[in-house]
Amino acid sequence: MKISIPENILSIKPYKPGKPLEELEREYGIAKSIKLASNENPLGPSPMAVKAMQEALGKLNRYPDGSGFDLIRKLSQHLKVPPKNIVLGNGSDDIIGMLTLALLRPGDEVVLPQPSFLMYDIMVRSAAAIPVTVPLSSLSIDLKGMQAEITSRTRMVFLCNPNNPTGTVIFKKDFENFMAGLSPEVVVVVDEAYFEFIRDQEKCASGIEYLDEDKPLVTLRTFSKAYGLAGLRIGYGIMPEKIAGLLNRVRQPFNTSSLAQIGAKAALDDKAFLKKTLEITHKGLDYLHAALDRLGIKYFPTQTNFFLIDVEKDADEIFESMLRHGVIVRSMKSYGYPQYIRINVGLAEENARFIEALEKII
Ligand SMILES: *Cc1c(COP(=O)(O)O)cnc(C)c1O
Repeated sequence: MKISIPENILSIKPYKPGKPLEELEREYGIAKSIKLASNENPLGPSPMAVKAMQEALGKLNRYPDGSGFDLIRKLSQHLKVPPKNIVLGNGSDDIIGMLTLALLRPGDEVVLPQPSFLMYDIMVRSAAAIPVTVPLSSLSIDLKGMQAEITSRTRMVFLCNPNNPTGTVIFKKDFENFMAGLSPEVVVVVDEAYFEFIRDQEKCASGIEYLDEDKPLVTLRTFSKAYGLAGLRIGYGIMPEKIAGLLNRVRQPFNTSSLAQIGAKAALDDKAFLKKTLEITHKGLDYLHAALDRLGIKYFPTQTNFFLIDVEKDADEIFESMLRHGVIVRSMKSYGYPQYIRINVGLAEENARFIEALEKII
């Protein structure tokens, strides 16, 4: 083929998702394997969401409400934010894509923490903009280091709070200092995919509290993690009306499906499911940490449903050995941590199986 391929596209490393269970079972001929690799909700989807979607199946011949009126109104009540400040996405990944498409010109710089969520780098490069990465400091986002990289060419900054893959948070005071020192021309995107899991909520700032029509601040949330709807693909952004208007120019008219809108709306009412999710997450973390302490294996504290473990061996090899025990974890080698793995909390029996397998391997 003789097509000319843009350099920015060639520079993208394709996203490697966590290994699906079905793939592992096919390749290794094992049954009853468990996946602790993609920070998914081990309880399954919110039952109220499932019920609402089942009842709506008969209307799938119709296009969705492209404006997402009902879900946006529900979110508006839930978050105490006007509907005009909310944009829905086919997962929060979709909002990241809309932001980079609508707001970046080729050659613009975007400051990113590293390691962090890989979609920022992919979307920035897709827009022919230039990622400027700032290493974490003690696994936390280095706000001062990021500030130091901001120049007249910087158009956007991504923060991930809590940060994936390290589980660390940005504290309120540090966030406020960062925002105060920032040029009003730089768009700040705060990705809060795991905000619901934070145990020290009062010390942590949500971008939503700082929503201001005059400040280019965008906060991202998702139904993929705490609400157990990763397969449904629905997330949202909270932003000034002006930025929402720009996103609505590039947004595909039916970017969120009718089932996704209906499921997400019902999930917001499913308080019991969210409560149960937080309970098993926090209990599971306590169990896993105690078990790792007993085994003398080092791990890092977290404010999310996942955390890093220092296996003191090649993480890719540990990943492979765990697969043979039917447990999927995530190697952090490609993230720059050659001896760390990341796992998320599973059901009690899954957590126990992980510990059992790790004990055998290490
Ligand atoms: C899982 C995750 C998301 C969620 O993406 P969706 O597209 O909403 O499923 C966003 N940001 C981070 C950091 C994540 O880990």
